[in-house]
Amino acid sequence: MNARTSDREPIDCEEALERLAAYLDQELDRTGRDEMERHLERCRSCFSRAEFERRLKERIQRGLVLDEVPREFEERIRTLLGRRASES
Ligand SMILES: [Zn+2]
Repeated sequence: MNARTSDREPIDCEEALERLAAYLDQELDRTGRDEMERHLERCRSCFSRAEFERRLKERIQRGLVLDEVPREFEERIRTLLGRRASES
């Protein structure tokens, strides 16, 4: 018996966080996006996380320096940007 029988099964937080960068970059396919949005509608913690990162990303794209940002987040941002650059 397979536990994961349905591909429409909602994603969990772990999965949502894994997809967050791609989601914010609008790199997910339709299904992935849909699942992500469904999760964000139901999960406050992931939703605020997504909002937070979206804003952060906006600021970076506007060329604002990372100095105001705590180290742990700076590292996350580098991961985000790195992933983006290496995926082309
Ligand atoms: Zn969640």
